[in-house]
Amino acid sequence: MDLIILNATIVAVKSGSLVENQTVIISEGRILAVGDESIKEVYEANQLVDAEGKFLMPGLWDNHVHFGGAEYVDENEKLLPLYLAFGVTSVRDAAGDISLDVLKWRNEINEGKRIGPKIFTSGPKLEGIGSIWPGDLEIGNTEELKLALDSLDKLKVDFVKITDNALAPDLFLEAVKQAKSRGYSVSGHIPVGLTLDQVSKAGQKTVEHLGYLLRMTSPKESEISEGRRSGTLSAAEAAILQLETRNDSLTLANFKQLAAQGTGIVPTLLISYNIAYLDENNFDQDSILNYLGPKLKASYQWRIDRMAQDTPEDKQNRKDNFERTANLIPLVKEAGMKIYAGTDAGYLNTYDYPGLGIHLELQKLVTYGLSHQEALEASVVNGPEYFELEADFGSVEKGKIANLILLNANPLENIKHTLTIDAVIKDGRYFSREDLDSMLLEIKNWVSKQ
Ligand SMILES: [Zn+2]
Repeated sequence: MDLIILNATIVAVKSGSLVENQTVIISEGRILAVGDESIKEVYEANQLVDAEGKFLMPGLWDNHVHFGGAEYVDENEKLLPLYLAFGVTSVRDAAGDISLDVLKWRNEINEGKRIGPKIFTSGPKLEGIGSIWPGDLEIGNTEELKLALDSLDKLKVDFVKITDNALAPDLFLEAVKQAKSRGYSVSGHIPVGLTLDQVSKAGQKTVEHLGYLLRMTSPKESEISEGRRSGTLSAAEAAILQLETRNDSLTLANFKQLAAQGTGIVPTLLISYNIAYLDENNFDQDSILNYLGPKLKASYQWRIDRMAQDTPEDKQNRKDNFERTANLIPLVKEAGMKIYAGTDAGYLNTYDYPGLGIHLELQKLVTYGLSHQEALEASVVNGPEYFELEADFGSVEKGKIANLILLNANPLENIKHTLTIDAVIKDGRYFSREDLDSMLLEIKNWVSKQ
C-alpha cells in the first residue's frame, strides 16, 4: 500500500456530517478502504500519517478558471503547483488563448508526469467571426460549427464553452444543441438576443456568471431580449426596464424551470465583487501576489485603468448591481438550481487569485445565502457531477480517486477553515504542510527572478 491515514475525522460533504476515528487506505491513486482502526492490520503501507484532530475531505474544485496569456505561458505553468498548494485538486478551465499548452499539461498530469490539479478544459471556446478574444474557434455558419466541433473532438476536450461576443443568437443555440448531442456538457454566457429559457431548453448545462440570471427577474425578459436583438432597446434602457419590473415570485418560478431542465449556475461572485468594490479595497499587500508572475499581474491593469474613469455614480451603480445579483443566491437555492463554485481566476481578472480564489468564493457564497455545507458541496460534489464523474470524486469513500485535503479545523462549522490546510493528497501522493510550503517557496523564488 502507498499510504495509510489514521484517526481522521472524515467530512461527509453531501450529508454534512462528520465520521470520527477513520482509517483510510490509499493505493495506486485510489481509496482502497475506509473503516475503523482494525482495517489497518490487513494492510502494510510505505507511509503512515496520523490525522488525529484533523478533518479529511475531498480536494477543492474550482469550477471556472482560465489559463491564458500567450506571452507568459511559463507563468501559467507555475499556477499548477500553486493550485495544489491551496488544496485545489481539480480545475475546470473555461477557455483562453493557450489551449494546446493546457491540454498538454492536462495529459501529463493525468499520466503522473507532472504535479498539478486535475484539469478539465473546454479547449478553445466557440465564438462568432471577429470575436474580441484571442484563441477562440470562430464560426459563421452551421458547416463551420460542425468543423469546429470536429476539431474539439480531435483535441479530446472535456466540455464545450460558448460565448456570444460575435456569435449570432440562432447559431449560438444550434451550437449548444450540437455540442450536447455529441455528448459534451455545455457551458457558456447568454446572448442578449436570447432568453435564458431558450438556451436552457437547447441543453446548456451551466450559465457562467450569476449576472445573466437577473434577466429572469422581469416579466419583460422576452420583450427586452427582442428589443436588444433588433436594436430598438439600448443596454441602459433594458437595465432600467428590467429593474422596474422585478418580480420575485416570477423569478423563483423561472429559476425552477431552469432547474427542471437541468441548467445550473456558476455564480463567480468573487470577480464581480472585486470589480464592484475595487475603489474600496486595497490588494497591494496581499501576500499571494508574491506567487504570481509579473505579466499575469500586469494583465489586471486594463480593468483598473478603465475603471479609473468611472464617475461616483458609475461606482455606486456597480455596487448596487453586484448586491442585486448576489442577492439572487437564496432564490437560486430555493429553486433547486445546481450551484457550481468557480472563481474566474487567472489572467485578466483583477485580483481574482488562482488557488486562494476558490476559498474566497466559498466565503462569498456563504455571505450571500449558502450554508457552509452547501458551499462545500458546490465545489467538491457538484464539480464532478458536471462531468458525470460522481463515481470517482465527491467523497472520501472506497473506490474514489484519492484527491483529498486534510484540514486543521472543521469546514462545516466555518467555511474559512478550508484555508487551514495541513496536507494535500493528489492521486494518492501525500504532500505534507512542509512539502506544500517548499512548493510555494519554489514558486516565489521563480517569480522573484522574472
Ligand atoms: Zn471566465
